[in-house]
Amino acid sequence: MLQELDQTYVMPTYVRNYTNFVKGKGSTLFDDQDNDYIDFTSGIGVVSVGHSHPEVVEAIQEQAAKMLHISNLYLIEPQAKLAKAISDNYGTLVKTFFANSGAEANEGAIKIARKFGEVAGQPKRYKIITLEHSFHGRTISALKATGQTSMHNYFGPFPDGFVHAADIDAIEGMIDDHTVAVMIELVQGEGGVEALKKAKVQALATMLKKRNILLIVDEVQTGVYRTGAFTASQAYGIEPDIITLAKGLGGGVPIGAIVTHLDVLQAGDHGSTFGGNYLVTATALKVVEILEKAYTSKSLELTTTYFTQKLQGFYEKHQDHFQKCVGIGMMRGIRVKEGEMLAKIIKAAHAKGVLVLKAGRNTLRFLPPLTITNEEIDEGFKRLEEAMATL
Ligand code: PLP
Repeated sequence: MLQELDQTYVMPTYVRNYTNFVKGKGSTLFDDQDNDYIDFTSGIGVVSVGHSHPEVVEAIQEQAAKMLHISNLYLIEPQAKLAKAISDNYGTLVKTFFANSGAEANEGAIKIARKFGEVAGQPKRYKIITLEHSFHGRTISALKATGQTSMHNYFGPFPDGFVHAADIDAIEGMIDDHTVAVMIELVQGEGGVEALKKAKVQALATMLKKRNILLIVDEVQTGVYRTGAFTASQAYGIEPDIITLAKGLGGGVPIGAIVTHLDVLQAGDHGSTFGGNYLVTATALKVVEILEKAYTSKSLELTTTYFTQKLQGFYEKHQDHFQKCVGIGMMRGIRVKEGEMLAKIIKAAHAKGVLVLKAGRNTLRFLPPLTITNEEIDEGFKRLEEAMATL
């Protein structure tokens, strides 16, 4: 019945599994038949503190009882506090603009770069170099920035000014007089959980600084403790000019953020009706507080080590199917030898009660909640073993 409603009235842009999940607790989900599932996906890196975290539930309930939205024409207390929390966690003074999604945050970052490239009396610098296999979102500019040309079919003409480098080594050679920024993910999530090499990223950051070209790091997936530190940029030891956040920041409410030390956008240059409203910023403030505690108490590190060891053991046991482990922190993947195996593993895992993801053509992807317990990790890998036995 619900499936019929969905298929009749919802645009068919997603390949859907029709399990009807009705609730979640921690890193466990329950369907309408009362089956339970260990969630190694966090709703694609979103539910960073797990499902229905009691403190998050309380923060939402409290805020909802007071006010959900008032507009950005007025002071918004949790928005100001969340911007401060982001700056504090980031470690240097940065300002934040709040958007509603990752793509929208990247659009705003592109606008900042374009305005930065507009200097009176000089030819405008507007070109942004991105990487092949990158993913920056589905809006027209973010899609053009995305270095997967198969996604560009049908949707042109696109705005001018985006070029894709084959890899990080190719970036410098592509810079010309019109280049204003380079935008990269430090770990390409959708592209296959591919982590860039630290030394190469640091060399790129130094080169760009010398040439007054902005470095934008898309941390929509890597940010908010997913890769260990608050941002992957901190883990890589670089200070980008702009970072974008989304996914894990809100723990499930739709939020995006553009974070920068640059003083480029002024009143009237950018805006959003919903961006940073009471509901989402009160929630995100609580999410960041919970994760900051997990980080400083080292519980996040212990969880990451435990998860990684389990994953490594699982990988070693199934080397007939797998070729290597990829990723960092709680953003992990296993490359499968044959792409067709991927769908089979994901389906078998679902049937045994554990949710896992696909990335790129041949990567089994793991984005568990950062607060997952060791018991849930054990149970998830036990079920994955059962799933592998059925293949
Ligand atoms: N950038 C990166 C690195 C992402 O992983 C994603 C989504 O997967 C996006 C941007 C787009 O985010 P959203 O779907 O919230 O627009």
